[in-house]
Amino acid sequence: MPVNKTAYLSLKKELDEKQVTLVAVSKTKPIEDILELYQLGQKDFGENYVQELVNKASQLPKDIHWHFIGHLQTNKVKLIVPFVQLIHGVDSLKLLKEINKEAVKSNRVIDCLLQVHIAQEETKFGFDEAELENALKIKYNYVQIKGLMGMASFTDDMGKVRGEFKTLKRILDIANQPQTPIPKLQTLSIGMSSDYKTAIEEGSNMVRIGSLLFGERTKSD
Ligand SMILES: *Cc1c(COP(=O)(O)O)cnc(C)c1O
Repeated sequence: MPVNKTAYLSLKKELDEKQVTLVAVSKTKPIEDILELYQLGQKDFGENYVQELVNKASQLPKDIHWHFIGHLQTNKVKLIVPFVQLIHGVDSLKLLKEINKEAVKSNRVIDCLLQVHIAQEETKFGFDEAELENALKIKYNYVQIKGLMGMASFTDDMGKVRGEFKTLKRILDIANQPQTPIPKLQTLSIGMSSDYKTAIEEGSNMVRIGSLLFGERTKSD
C-alpha cells in the first residue's frame, strides 16, 4: 500500500495547529515509505522492534528522531541508547536502571516516558498508579523522565477509550502538582490512528500514528 501523502499533509496541519507532535509509526514498513514522509518534512518516526529500528536507522538520514514505542527488553537497551530520541514504553524500574547504565556508557542523557497501564486488558504493559509514584521518586543522572505514555483498550467503544485517556491525564496532573517532589512531566503520549482525536481532546500532545499514513499492516501489531 502506498504512503498516503494527502492524509499526512492534512494530519500534520491539524496537529501543528494544536501543537501536538506527530510520531509517524513506521513499523513493518520499508525504508522507501519512511523516506517519502521524510521528504515531506517529517522528522519523528516510531518503531516497535529493536532490530528493525537499528537496521532502518543505519540506512536513513541521521537527523531523523527515532522513537522507540514498543516493549523494550533489558538486554536490547544497549542497541538503541546510542541514537534513540525518546523511549516511550518504559514499564519497569529494572528497565529504567538498565537505560541509565547504558546511557552512562554512551554519555547521553536519554529521554523516557513511563508507560502507565490504563487499559482494562490484562495483556498491556505498564506501571499502575502506586508503582508510578515510586518510579518518579527515583533519580537517575542519565535518564530524564519527560512524561507519560499510555495505550487504551482495543475496542470500538470510544466512551471507554476516552475514560482511559482521562485517567492518564489525571495521573499526569497529579504527578505535576508543584507540591510533590517530582520532575515536571510535559509529554503525554496517547492516541493512535483510530483514537487520536479523542486523545487530543483529553490532553495528548504527542500522537503515534501508523496505519493512517502508511496503510494497514499485515502483521497484527
Ligand atoms: C503500532 C502502534 C501504534 C500505531 O498504530 P496505528 O493504529 O497504526 O496508528 C501506536 N503506538 C504503539 C505503541 C504501536 O505499537
